[in-house]
This record gives sequence, structure tokens and C-alpha cells, in this order.
Amino acid sequence: MIYLDNAATTQMKQEVLDEMMPYFREYYGNASAVYELGNKSKYAIDVARDRAAALLHTKAERIFFTSGGSESDNWAIIKTAQMLKGKGHHLITTAIEHPAVINTMKALEDEGFEVTFLPVDEKGFVTPEQVEEAIRDDTILISVMFANNEIGTIEPIEEIGCIAHEHGILFHTDAVQAFGQLPIDPDQMNIDLLSASAHKIYGPKGVGLLYLSPKASRIRSLIHGGGQERNKRAGTENVPGIVGFGKACELAASTINERMQQESSLRDYFIKKVLDEIPFTYVNGASGDDRLPGNANIGFKFVEAESELIMLDQKGIAASSGSACTAGSIDPSHVLLAIGRDETEARESLRFTLSDATTKEELDKTVDVLKETVEMLRSTNLFYQDYLEKNG
Ligand SMILES: *Cc1c(COP(=O)(O)O)cnc(C)c1O
Repeated sequence: MIYLDNAATTQMKQEVLDEMMPYFREYYGNASAVYELGNKSKYAIDVARDRAAALLHTKAERIFFTSGGSESDNWAIIKTAQMLKGKGHHLITTAIEHPAVINTMKALEDEGFEVTFLPVDEKGFVTPEQVEEAIRDDTILISVMFANNEIGTIEPIEEIGCIAHEHGILFHTDAVQAFGQLPIDPDQMNIDLLSASAHKIYGPKGVGLLYLSPKASRIRSLIHGGGQERNKRAGTENVPGIVGFGKACELAASTINERMQQESSLRDYFIKKVLDEIPFTYVNGASGDDRLPGNANIGFKFVEAESELIMLDQKGIAASSGSACTAGSIDPSHVLLAIGRDETEARESLRFTLSDATTKEELDKTVDVLKETVEMLRSTNLFYQDYLEKNG
């Protein structure tokens, strides 16, 4: 099988699983307990927190473990809004955020908050100027994703954070796609709240973190209960998950530069090969250093992405259309619509996301299969036949 859906989730590393295993049966103590077995868990969480902090060049006390990226986004946005509602009711975000941010913002709108969803340009960028123009006296939070999960565009986070801070506004970034894949320093980049997730960086599913700067650390907990995570996130800690996340962070930190180089050159190789060898294709998103190293998003004219995905699957290749399937109807991607693609184009685009284990041979094979299957689907497409007739 050729797995090219690493933006959806990654395969956990063996080293990660190996570190987690003892915490399921051998060291099963509750980290809040006073006896030695509990201390083992507490110590393991401390180690994981140090490793996560190291990846962000920050202190362990700034890291709070959660159940994943979605919880971190919900926590950051909802509790910042509630904390600052006496100051204002306006939040700024972008039109291309992950549903964990978009739908949290919409929930706040239902509660009386006002949200500006900034449009993006044809490559998926939001500019610092746009953010500045949207700021009002009652703006309490700016939330802009670090890198987009569908088209890979990397936003000008440091500059946007700078503007937020010039106006005394807290800045959140959903960094789930960038964490461990790109160098991130929240302090230097003016980030107050940052969401990350373990399963996107070869760690386990169901564990994530929220980074809080000193200014943001006054936000209250989203999950009420016991005093875990220094009274910020109740619930008995997912010790094996946190241990695995910590190990994934350690591995990510030690390999980040070589992975970036390797994946971006394979990405460019793949994109070029598809564009060269398959007619009527185009790239969605930015290029070079402005794009996540492992992300390729390509439109195939006269091809229905969902049908192409099934054909790829039959050949053992896993990719994605980046659209959410809802019972019966397939919504076109809000990200592709936001960069100016029409509904037809949004339905003919496929996302291929690489891992650190993806090989050139796998990509060559994928291009071969694409060539064959795209031609097959086009041969039964009436619009394609029509186009060929008109254009010779
Ligand atoms: C995957 C993802 C999330 C959600 O993270 P989970 O840990 O799966 O809840 C949020 N934002 C982005 C950009 C993502 O890619």
C-alpha cells in the first residue's frame, strides 16, 4: 500500500509505541496518587512535557496536554472569548481554517460574538495588512492557522502575531499541521496560544497540547473537574498517550531539518511529474518554502475527485479529496472555494500528503496509476469529449 494521506493522520512510529507500552499495564498508576506507582506516571508526564516544550523552544510550564487538536482549538477560542467578553465581542479568523476552528467560531456567533472570516488570496495567503484592517476596538482574539491542512499554505504568522500584539490582542494559531514539521518558536513569533496534535507527527491519536504564553495563561479550563494539568484541564491524564506524544516530539525535533528537505524535494518532484505527464492539471496553493514540505494538492480537469480516489484505492493508494463527505452529498472544500476555485474545480482536486518514509518509487508508481486512471475517467466524461471536439 502507498499511503499519501499523512495530513489526515500518520502511522505511529515503533519507538513511540515501545515507550508507551509499559504505561498501559506495568505503570498504570494515577499520576495524582502519592505512592510510587503514581509517581512513575507523574514523572513520565513531566518528561513528555519537557520534550514537547523543547520542540517549541519554550518552558514546560507553558504546555498543557489535551485530547487532541480539536479540543485545543475549542479551549483556546472559547475560553479566551469568555475571559475577555467584558472587553469586546469581536474575533478575527480566516475562511480556510480547519472545522475545529471554523465551527467553534460559529458556535460563538450563536452566543452573540461577532466573527470576521478573512478571505485569502489565490494561493491561500492572508496578509498582515488584512488582519490589521479588520481589527476593531472590541477585537479580543485573532486566530490564524499556521499552515493549511488541505493546500499546505504557510501563513505569515510572525507578522500577524506582531500586529496582534501592537494592538494588545491575543493571538492563537492552529499549528496542528506545522508542529514538528516546521520550526516554531511561539515567543519569537508572537504567538499566545498554539494548538498541536500527536497523531499528525507519528504519535498516538487522542492526545494534543495547548501552548499558553504568560499573557494567555489566565484562560480558564474548558473541561471542569479535578486539578490535573495545574488546574487547567481536568480528567485523569492519558498517560500512555502523553508519553507517546512526548516521544514523537523528541523524534520530530531531532529530524526536523532533514525531513523538511527530503519531503519538500520529493513533493516538488511529484508535482512536476504530475503536471508534466498528465494534461489538464494544476496546483492548488503556494510553492517552495511557503508550502508544507509534504503537501501536494492537484486539480485534474474533467475528473471527479471522489471517483479517482476510489480508483486509487483499488490500486492500493490512499489519498484524499480534502472535502467532508456528509450523508449522500459531498460538500466542495471551503478552502478551495476560498482560493477562488469554482465548485467544479473544487470537486476535481486531490490532496497527496507525504510522510518521512515516502519514497520516490512510491511517487513514481502513483503518477503511473494516476495517468492510467485519470485517462480512464476522462474517457467517459462528456464535458471532456465535448472539449476535445471543440478544441481539436
Ligand atoms: C487534524 C487537524 C486538527 C484536529 O486535530 P485532532 O487531534 O484530530 O483533533 C485541527 N486542525 C488542523 C489544521 C488539523 O490538521
